[in-house]
Amino acid sequence: MTHVTLKNIVKEYESGTQIISDLSLSVEPGELLVLVGPSGCGKSTVLRMIAGLEEITGGELLFDDQRVNDMPAKSRDIGMVFQNYALYPHLTVAENLAFPLTLRKVPKKNIHDKVHEVSTLVGLESLLDRKPKQLSGGQRQRVALGRAIIRTPRVFLFDEPLSNLDAQLRVHMRAEIVKLQKRLGITGIYVTHDQAEAMTMGDRIAVLNKGALMQIGKPKEIYESPANVFVAGFLGSPTMNFFKGSIAMEHTSMVFVEEHEGARFTLPASIITKQSPLPRNIIVGIRPEHCSPHASQDEDPVWETMIEQIEYHGHEMILHMMSGGTRKSMRISVSDDYKPDMHVSIRLDHKHICLFDADTGLRV
Ligand code: ADP
Repeated sequence: MTHVTLKNIVKEYESGTQIISDLSLSVEPGELLVLVGPSGCGKSTVLRMIAGLEEITGGELLFDDQRVNDMPAKSRDIGMVFQNYALYPHLTVAENLAFPLTLRKVPKKNIHDKVHEVSTLVGLESLLDRKPKQLSGGQRQRVALGRAIIRTPRVFLFDEPLSNLDAQLRVHMRAEIVKLQKRLGITGIYVTHDQAEAMTMGDRIAVLNKGALMQIGKPKEIYESPANVFVAGFLGSPTMNFFKGSIAMEHTSMVFVEEHEGARFTLPASIITKQSPLPRNIIVGIRPEHCSPHASQDEDPVWETMIEQIEYHGHEMILHMMSGGTRKSMRISVSDDYKPDMHVSIRLDHKHICLFDADTGLRV
């Protein structure tokens, strides 16, 4: 199992554009690390530098203790799976799987055994004689997976491998890839822009924005304790509710007042005293599932608002509200009690409120 370390990695193009600025992270042996972030944030560039397909401008890339910055791609022992499967159309499934071994002149008998072993692992044993055009998208992606693992590489790299598949198959393949990666015990780095994919697949997630690492940690840690507004808003669907405003003292209470004549609610002293000193402009963040129309703890702030729209999802409902010029949402169990334009008192579970400095975006 290989330990992959990025130390102060920089990627700059000749034009002087810096795509990755000082990225440091470590991928533990055998772990699946997901690099997630919006389109254009530099995820694929990072992956391509690790693969040796893109030159590294600054910093060090280590596989265990070995510096591999200048090692050619073919010597790095990488198995890579892309969004477009890149299969050879004139070769059968068996021949496509065998390709990396044929290239290395592995004896025929060994290739035959290995193709059978891998085709069973990825569930292609009955399709070995087919050509890629006779396969579904999911089956083609399995061939690409099988081809990437047939040499048992040191490191697995996945670049949005499921983006071309339909929603149901994508969910199924996520689980299969994780199972396979764990079974083989090969260190993996998986790039996606899809936060749900990152949350469900990663042992840890590294969130990138504009070429910089925003936060790295286990999915639960990052979801529950986001380091900044970007991470808080990027993970979770519907997104976290953000109320931007300031705190005013009214008698002995601390009242939060949202900008643009938005929400007003009293914040419990317990969450304020934990954060000192409080910035002037703050953002109160709370996830839709931590808002509720029902009575809960006395300490919880209550936000009086109107329902704008209701989304029915079968197993739950999302109520949408507007305040302070931004959309907010609340996730609740299915109920016939709510209608658009209805007034609601929403309790915000104070234990799950996150406060951010509105100027820096950092959690306070
Ligand atoms: P992601 O995978 O997160 O969508 P990429 O790593 O593909 O992002 O790209 C990151 C940024 O690098 C993009 O803004 C892209 O336009 C820029 N980029 C890619 N190649 C070049 C290049 N040859 N010269 C300058 N900028 C580039």
